Amino acid sequence: MQLKSIEIQGFKSFAGKTRLDFDTGMTAVIGPNGSGKSNLAEAIRWVLGEQSTKQLRSKSSTDIIFAGSDSKQQASRAVVRLTFDNETGRFPVDAAEVSVARSLSRAGESEYSVNGDPVRLVDLQHLLAEAGIGAKTYTVISQGMVDRYLSATPTVRRELFDEATGIRAMQIKLHEADKKLRSAQHNAHDIEVVTHELEPRLAVLGRQIQRHNERQQLESVFTEKQTAWFQHAWHEFSHAHQAAKARYEELQSRIATARTMRQALEQRLLSTPHSSSNAEILEEKLRQARKEYELLKQEQAHAVEQKEQLAASLVAIRTQRETAKRSLEEKRGQSLHFDWLKATRQLLRRTQDTLRSIISSEPPSEEEIKTLVDDIDTTINRTDDSMSVHMARSVLDQLEKPLQEVARLTAIEEERTSQLKNLRIPPTPTSEAIAQLEQQLRTTAPAPGASAVSPEELEAAREEELEAERESAAAKAAAQQTGQDLHGLEQEILRERGTEFIRSIQEALPSTPKPSETDIRQLASRISQLGTIDELTIKEYEEVKNRYDYLTHQLEDIRATEQNIETLRSQLKREMDELFTRQFQVIQRAFCTYFQTLFGGGKADLTVTEEGIEIKAVPPGKHTRSITLLSGGERALTSLALLLAILEAQRPPFIVLDEVDAALDEANSKHLSEALQEKSRHTQCIVITHNRQTMSGADVLYGVTMQQDGVSKIYSVSLKDIEEKAEELAVKEHMAV
Ligand code: ATP
Repeated sequence: MQLKSIEIQGFKSFAGKTRLDFDTGMTAVIGPNGSGKSNLAEAIRWVLGEQSTKQLRSKSSTDIIFAGSDSKQQASRAVVRLTFDNETGRFPVDAAEVSVARSLSRAGESEYSVNGDPVRLVDLQHLLAEAGIGAKTYTVISQGMVDRYLSATPTVRRELFDEATGIRAMQIKLHEADKKLRSAQHNAHDIEVVTHELEPRLAVLGRQIQRHNERQQLESVFTEKQTAWFQHAWHEFSHAHQAAKARYEELQSRIATARTMRQALEQRLLSTPHSSSNAEILEEKLRQARKEYELLKQEQAHAVEQKEQLAASLVAIRTQRETAKRSLEEKRGQSLHFDWLKATRQLLRRTQDTLRSIISSEPPSEEEIKTLVDDIDTTINRTDDSMSVHMARSVLDQLEKPLQEVARLTAIEEERTSQLKNLRIPPTPTSEAIAQLEQQLRTTAPAPGASAVSPEELEAAREEELEAERESAAAKAAAQQTGQDLHGLEQEILRERGTEFIRSIQEALPSTPKPSETDIRQLASRISQLGTIDELTIKEYEEVKNRYDYLTHQLEDIRATEQNIETLRSQLKREMDELFTRQFQVIQRAFCTYFQTLFGGGKADLTVTEEGIEIKAVPPGKHTRSITLLSGGERALTSLALLLAILEAQRPPFIVLDEVDAALDEANSKHLSEALQEKSRHTQCIVITHNRQTMSGADVLYGVTMQQDGVSKIYSVSLKDIEEKAEELAVKEHMAV
């Protein structure tokens, strides 16, 4: 790759369109002081993207445009174009030639272009970096830059070497990676703070949800067991009731049979002439009638008493229920008044204060309003929601017991009402039959010796009838009791599970074993211990859980990113260390060689220390001493040796050296000229110089002049042409001779 030409127009003293063509090898640019030679070097520096006005010896960016002179008008814009051949493809552009241009107008309009197409500075920098050229490399070296390495402290020198060895870009990448890492760590920390804040709430809600889930599970087991228990109980109760009723009916027919038997015996006895046994029969009948009368009266009194008791207990239950209801209402009123009002007032007061403070000052800015809205949002979302949930929960907790009490009393009331409704009071018995019998007995006279029925027979029949009647009374009571039990059970089932359920269990026999009542009681008690939670809590749990999961997921992503950055960092660091070591060794070796070439001997070395980089330079015949003790010329020569060594590592396609040889004497200038000639075999060298030794080593010479008009002009002299012309002349002269 080779720099083929430079075209300048309007840049500093180059007012008119000026073009310089370059060949491989070494080109020297010469001319008197102030003619514009350094302007040429700066034009190259500028087109390569230089941004520092200091490096361009100007105050502002537009200072580089030709300012005009007594006889020449100022230029409206500066344009500089470099053209390279790209046969080796060093520029990643599909073209045999690449021209890079920069222009700037007085209005400050700046443009970079590659082969005529406008590009961004950053794209141009990338392109040049690919080709090994750039403002940051040592393509254009001015006199001031030469001494930089020697005058710098070891630490600053290390920085210069970082740049020279090409690891600076990697350091920037490393720095960016560090920044990204820190930002990722910062984000991770922020997320961790939020997740840590959420964790206690999530744990509390999680436990509640766990209890809720457990309760739901237990409830389903409870329902299953309760269903089975109800099924069994209903069939058992129903069966017991049927059996009691059947027993009662059986006893009724036994009574009827016994009665028929007894009546038949009595009839037979009556059909025989009156006797003492007739009187006996009548007396017995009278006793029987009186007993029955008493029994019926007792039964009626018992029913009346039972009814009164039920009615009284109903009144008591109603009173209790009313009291419980009142207490419930009171509690509800109190809770709502106290908690809700207080919370709402607090929120309103806070909002009111904020608003008042905004109204009292200047009209609020958009930012202030946004902050207020955000505050209210935060207050509503974070504080009041959870406060409301908490308060709602405590209100519900307070109301739960009285509510249950009211429900319990209502159920009892319903049951007692139904019992009262179903209670039948037998009619008042009459004493008519007793009076008739007494009359009969009075008119009956005993007729001795006429008895076909034995008294024992009649007694046995009466006993059987009485026994049947006794058992019947007991059976009746049992039938009533089992009926009440069944009714009570049905009421309970109705309350718990509804009509449909009752119908279903009446229709089918139980298919599972009867669970124990203890099991069911324990289940019910565990369920009531677990308590209930409201919809709001479930919703809050879901929200908090979703947010927590989302943040945790984000945290995992960030951790993965951190890991990637860490890997990238260590890879970059390794590559950087390797590159530095490699390049440093190249510079180290080349420095020693160039030093010896330029000084004609001596010793030089570079070492990496804790502080940075140390330079050791001992000119021939001299003892080891500090570089600060070197003479001006020795110092310049040492710097040049180091610079050439650095260029050895960087290998730019061309270099521009601007009066770097100014401080050298004749002998050292010769050494430098030889070194540059050697270097120009691989790297195109453009040397701005006043030094004759340097000039004599060049393949092409360009002269720069400046006339009265303050405009730089270029004239070129090819030394090769001169030599060829000289040879031609010598041949002609020889022929003539
Ligand atoms: P030396 O050999 O002394 O280093 P030089 O040949 O390198 O000199 P330069 O420094 O390149 O000279 O040129 C300096 C000249 O350029 C000065 O005469 C200065 O007035 C002129 N110059 C600098 N900037 C502008 C500008 N914007 N417009 C016109 N002339 C300018």
